[in-house]
Amino acid sequence: MKPIGIFGGTFDPIHYGHLRSAFEMLQALNFDEIRFIPCGDPPHRGTTFAEAKLRNLMVEVAIAGQDGFVCDDRELRRDGPSYSIDTLNGLREEFPDRSLGLIIGMDAFLGLTKWHRWDEILDVAHIIVAHRPGWRAPDIGELGDMITEHGTHRVADLHEATHGRIHIHAVTQLEIASTEIRDLVAAGRDPRFLMPDAVRNIIKETSVYMRDTNE
Ligand code: ATP
Repeated sequence: MKPIGIFGGTFDPIHYGHLRSAFEMLQALNFDEIRFIPCGDPPHRGTTFAEAKLRNLMVEVAIAGQDGFVCDDRELRRDGPSYSIDTLNGLREEFPDRSLGLIIGMDAFLGLTKWHRWDEILDVAHIIVAHRPGWRAPDIGELGDMITEHGTHRVADLHEATHGRIHIHAVTQLEIASTEIRDLVAAGRDPRFLMPDAVRNIIKETSVYMRDTNE
């Protein structure tokens, strides 16, 4: 069975930077599916702007019709903070023999050692790091050591083992960030072409980001 990719995020809102990276991963890594898992109550970054349910809906409409893209709302159904390690352990219980690949951007990877029980992640899943504009792979410190020990360039390694490897993968660099989209919408501008129209329509209909995001 091919690996399952796990793509967590606040997705506040989801945009083409997320979608294009996930799509390239799906194809290049030959994964069975990519699960988008919107964060319920993000422990590491204060509050979100859109409610979890709305962020989840935006993910659902964004990926509709794309084979291999799945929206998984497990973090919304769980009370308390959304820790990735709990999500990964839940998936591991559900899929004991499958290869699992946690997909994160390089910026998120650089903050990995601040995550709750971060050092248990490789016991459960692989870590797939997407290059993001402006970020370099660390070669020193705890993360540098981790890459030296667990890093692999071989996609086959992600299929042969169910967890435990780190794979850094270049994706087409789209310099889009949810923060900029929220600021743009709050300033009354149109986010067209930064995200699928179905997501843009929800943003328009709900006026979700039509306020000062620095409040
Ligand atoms: P914000 O601007 O609110 O911080 P964001 O655009 O970074 O949001 P998140 O939902 O926080 O989006 O990101 C989820 C995951 O997607 C993270 O692992 C992040 O590194 C990655 N990611 C975000 N934007 C891009 C992009 N343009 N290209 C590739 N990966 C991205």
